[in-house]
Amino acid sequence: MTTRPGAGFGKTLSGLQGIKSIEDFELKDQRVFIRLDLNVPMSGEAGALEITDDTRIRAALPTVKYALEKGAKVILASHLGRPEKDEDRAKFTLEPVAERLGELLKCEVILIEEPNSDAPKALLSGLKPNQLLLLENLRFDVGETKNAPELANTIASYTDIYINDAFGASHRAHATIDALPKLIAKRGCGFLIKKEIENLSGLLAGPAKPFLAIMGGAKVSDKIKVIEKMIESIDTFMIGGAMSYTFLAAKGLGVGKSRVEKDKIAFARELMERIEARGRKVLLPVDHIVADDFLAPTKIETISGESIPEDRLGLDIGPKTRAMYREEILRAKTVFWNGPMGVFEKPEFAKGSFAVAEALAGLVAKGGISIVGGGDSAAAAEASGFADQMTHISTGGGASLEYLEGAKLPGLEALRTVRESAAPSL
Ligand code: ADP
Ligand code: MG
Repeated sequence: MTTRPGAGFGKTLSGLQGIKSIEDFELKDQRVFIRLDLNVPMSGEAGALEITDDTRIRAALPTVKYALEKGAKVILASHLGRPEKDEDRAKFTLEPVAERLGELLKCEVILIEEPNSDAPKALLSGLKPNQLLLLENLRFDVGETKNAPELANTIASYTDIYINDAFGASHRAHATIDALPKLIAKRGCGFLIKKEIENLSGLLAGPAKPFLAIMGGAKVSDKIKVIEKMIESIDTFMIGGAMSYTFLAAKGLGVGKSRVEKDKIAFARELMERIEARGRKVLLPVDHIVADDFLAPTKIETISGESIPEDRLGLDIGPKTRAMYREEILRAKTVFWNGPMGVFEKPEFAKGSFAVAEALAGLVAKGGISIVGGGDSAAAAEASGFADQMTHISTGGGASLEYLEGAKLPGLEALRTVRESAAPSL
């Protein structure tokens, strides 16, 4: 291993170094602005919207509860979806979120209609202990995505302490993620970001070995950077999902009508060679659940053996592969899983992903570490019923992958304070 002089100081700060946590501040009577990721999926028409999955709201609760318990005057804010014009307001309102937050926290949530307004200033002075403010969808103000100083300045004018707990939005340099914290001396992260970074940096720093990476999902191209970053520390590389057909094609096997990225076949071949040259293993499915059509699958069958017939496409890993992958997972100490093993949204093709989730729960039960990243993988883990038995499920989606790729997240970088200069003001 090589060491670089100065690692851990100045420009080389990484992980949570130089970032304060909400616990480092005296919150009593302070106006605490908390940026959250409350971007939850909704169904129904404008006026009768319903939250279909409140995972992100629940994930935000520890930080909000902590601030309320410490006697802070709390202002919450989040984006929701991608509203483009004024007519979109009814569809992208945070009203249902305000309601759900009120139920979960048992307090009154006052929704501020304009994110960029002075209204919070006046309301904050008279805020009661069982009340908090929530700004309407930050993207109702065009300044949010443009990282505009105007929106940041308005919020800074009534904020004493800034807390970012929006891990899922921290890979974007938006006004409340980047411009705003830079204006506030007392800034730090909440419990969710802390948990995310602690778990994800563990993977980057040197996971307990053997280290198994399970990759699947829709495309090889989405995961190349993460694979590249992890390749040196991986002991076993397990592949499933649509991704596996590009790898099987690279081995010269018949994949029928399965989804293959032709322009990634060479990459897949070279990657397998690199891993095997290091004496490490690459595991590919040995059987498949196949069908005749992706959108309207009628003939669903299990295909054993190496090749998939010309008129079939693979939509999940088969039973032999499930058993083999399960054993391999239980032999590891650390597992990172990104990308479902099949089209898990349909029960016929969910068995592979659920078997992986079950094996990961078994691994954790015997002292191993399982970390799940990626929006669809998190959804698959949730649907499997084993989600609460994982070491960590990242709520970050794109942000977790970018972090694992080694990218600097604007939301984290904006929180770093060089200790010496920040200390006197705290
Ligand atoms: P994540 O969000 O966890 O990073 P991806 O977005 O890469 O995962 O991939 C998830 C998608 O991949 C799912 O919608 C799933 O249906 C799809 N998928 C998995 N296996 C296959 C397959 N064999 N053929 C087509 N699509 C697949
Ligand atoms: Mg996805």
